[in-house]
Amino acid sequence: MSTTIIIGKNGEQKFTITGSMVSKEHAQVTIDDNGTWTLKDLNSKNGTYVRDNNGNFVRISEIAITPDTFICLGPDNATGCMFYACHLLNDKDDYHHEFSLLDKYARKYIAEYYKVEKRSVIIMKSIAGISLLLLALSFAMEQGKAIQLLRVGTLLSTLYSLFANPKKSLLQINEKASNFYRCPNPGCIYKLTVKDIENCQCPRCKAHA
Ligand SMILES: [Zn+2]
Repeated sequence: MSTTIIIGKNGEQKFTITGSMVSKEHAQVTIDDNGTWTLKDLNSKNGTYVRDNNGNFVRISEIAITPDTFICLGPDNATGCMFYACHLLNDKDDYHHEFSLLDKYARKYIAEYYKVEKRSVIIMKSIAGISLLLLALSFAMEQGKAIQLLRVGTLLSTLYSLFANPKKSLLQINEKASNFYRCPNPGCIYKLTVKDIENCQCPRCKAHA
């Protein structure tokens, strides 16, 4: 027998929803005998969304989900409601599984950040090495050729600053990561830090693993 849970301000979920943009019966999740989860919007006024792999919320009407899908009813702020699908089955104050998911996300984005940072250090060191070599060579050359060598060195450094500088990529990674670091408590919209995730507790609402 499949299970259907109506979610909304007057829904059957175990947690309370207070967001002003959430409908009384906003969406429903059906869990089939074979363990397939389906999320359906119940013609809500402000829409049902799921978070995609890039951290963006995508509006849905009916979609297959997993217990780890992050669902957003209405806007992704205090007037809406955000929660992991698994929370529909878990005890109201049990965020154990959610914090293990957050830990997985944090590890992923920290690894991505360090990879970009490490690569940029290698490129930067290589350019510095080449520039230094060109400078050393320039001493042994007549003035005209020496100037040309020094120009190549300057050009390389400038090209690095313009096109290979990792600052933008690193900022993008942090921005993307912050979309995944949301507090798992449906009533809380706090964006957790990596430290909060390590501590397995939201500093605002005290939801914890
Ligand atoms: Zn919280």
